[in-house]
Amino acid sequence: MAKLTVTVNQGRCIASGDCAELAPGVFQLDADGKSEVYNPAGASDQLIVAAARACPAKAITVIDEDSGTQLFPVKK
Ligand code: SF4
Repeated sequence: MAKLTVTVNQGRCIASGDCAELAPGVFQLDADGKSEVYNPAGASDQLIVAAARACPAKAITVIDEDSGTQLFPVKK
């Protein structure tokens, strides 16, 4: 499992809860229902990327620290 940096842009988050539902070991919702990362190693890399992909607001960024690759959103 790679070391990932996972961030949520709370300014974009629309509090849908999808990420916390898909990867509850990584994301939790604050009092406003907005997501925050409390454990970036709390799920498999694949699941974390899937949660980022499922975010309707595209508020989640996932970076593989070992290779420096941004896994999501994929840079064009
Ligand atoms: S899936 Fe996106 S919009 Fe929904 S709570 Fe998570 S970060 Fe916010």
